[in-house]
Amino acid sequence: MATTVPDPVLVERLTDALASSRKTVAFTGAGISTESGIPDFRGPQGVWTKVDPSEFTIQNYVSNPDHRRRVWRMRAEHRDRTYEPNAGHRALVELERLGALDCVITQNIDGLHQQAGSSVVLELHGNTREVKCLSCDRRALSETVIARLDAGEEDPRCLDCGGLLKSATVSFGEAMPEQIVNESLERAESADLCLVVGSSLVVFPAAGIPLAAARAGARVAIINNEPTELDEIADPVIRSPAGVTLSAVVARLRANSR
Ligand code: NAD
Repeated sequence: MATTVPDPVLVERLTDALASSRKTVAFTGAGISTESGIPDFRGPQGVWTKVDPSEFTIQNYVSNPDHRRRVWRMRAEHRDRTYEPNAGHRALVELERLGALDCVITQNIDGLHQQAGSSVVLELHGNTREVKCLSCDRRALSETVIARLDAGEEDPRCLDCGGLLKSATVSFGEAMPEQIVNESLERAESADLCLVVGSSLVVFPAAGIPLAAARAGARVAIINNEPTELDEIADPVIRSPAGVTLSAVVARLRANSR
């Protein structure tokens, strides 16, 4: 069961692990952004309790024009929703400033780590800031396509080659960006601590990154409200909300370094 206040003994253990680590990478998932108001997928209020995940495959996107029109309609309807980084994102920025964090490897597509100020963010599943052409890979800012939806297009096509356009995110069945995966693996495998925050760790291949870090000898620490696939090999496992937990860790780290 998650506790709203993290266990101080576990906070201290994580602080010690950070302080003695030569290189730490953070691996984040949807859970770090729920405190900003963005639902996760698999938590108790997650998106998958309301919609069927099997619809959101690349195969369905490519073959089903009705699905694409629905996705674009949803995109246009949600355009005015803005989200702000929360205490968890800000604490990771603080860890970087304190010299205790090498990078953030994220499965998230919301851009909140960059908005908070993290300087090295590796987005394994792309982002919603841009759209991409599925044929020629031309990229454009999402706003430009939303303007075309406003002008009456329902299933916009690439202006260069006529290919299908899609949000620059990685759907089920779609490959992750190779260069970003390689850099993430390189950083994770050369780290001695991998701090996992807000991920169920069931989405592969992304969840293979903390696993690869562990196999290369890194310690894994987990902050997550619910049990995850890697709890068995992690120390500590802190089952409390990311914002309050990471803030407590940063405060402890600062106090210990005075
Ligand atoms: P997930 O939904 O599978 O798991 C999220 C985990 O975070 C759950 O175990 C949940 O209990 C935990 N959690 C929720 N709120 C928390 C909090 N405040 N503090 C600590 N833990 C909390 O998410 P995932 O593992 O990232 O994998 C799902 C996929 O979802 C990813 O591929 C990602 O691209 C996508 N996604 C991204 C966003 C986003 O960008 N914000 C939102 C939803 C889904």
